Amino acid sequence: MDCHTPEELSGVGMTSQRTRNRMVERLTANGIRHPAVLEVMAAEPRHLFLDEALAHRAYEDTSLPLGLGQTLSQPWIVARMSELVCQAEPRRVLEVGTGSGYQTLVLARLVNAVWSVERIAVLSQRARQRLSRLGVGNVNLRHADGGLGWPQAAPFDVILLTACASELPQTLLSQLRDGGVLIAPLADADGRQWLTRIRRRGPVFDRQRLEEVRFVPLLEGVIR
Ligand code: SAH
Repeated sequence: MDCHTPEELSGVGMTSQRTRNRMVERLTANGIRHPAVLEVMAAEPRHLFLDEALAHRAYEDTSLPLGLGQTLSQPWIVARMSELVCQAEPRRVLEVGTGSGYQTLVLARLVNAVWSVERIAVLSQRARQRLSRLGVGNVNLRHADGGLGWPQAAPFDVILLTACASELPQTLLSQLRDGGVLIAPLADADGRQWLTRIRRRGPVFDRQRLEEVRFVPLLEGVIR
């Protein structure tokens, strides 16, 4: 397995440590407070999760195309969702929608172990290569329909969806431990998307609507 050169890892110019620090300053100015989240995002090479032609834009405050109609979430969204995960005593986390694998990497640095599912084979394979080149050992990836969760590894402390569901994903909720939380963009009847936190208390699921967001849709089935 070849490794990255130090230059590739730390980046130069628009992918340098200074550029990452400026991204973190903007995250702080925009309300992200969790020290570990900021530390991880200052350290980890977001530019390695994009096509080379787009790498110089990795630290801009924007979502970016991954190909196959999918997008890498903007840094603020990754930070906000990671902050919400950290507030939930996370040890075992399930992510639905691996995409580039960048959010997966950030989670892997913050919690004990991550299970992440992606429905598009090519994206799942690329994420696997990126994470293994970085030597990330506490991540389990699967090419499958994430709406079905990962029953063999359940229950989870946190389940994070990085694609927008239009209905409450009951199968996923059943894989939450008591006291665990599901964090997901959920669409309302008007098609507006809201970042939503659902906490399980025994048989009861408390729902809390947070900020308005824009994500690609959660889709059924897999693409080979
Ligand atoms: N966290 C990712 C976001 C990628 S966009 C990143 O920062 O790169 C959301 C991803 O969810 C897409 O890759 C899409 O293919 C995937 N997705 C959508 N529905 C899914 C499903 N049912 N199961 C697994 N992945 C799904």
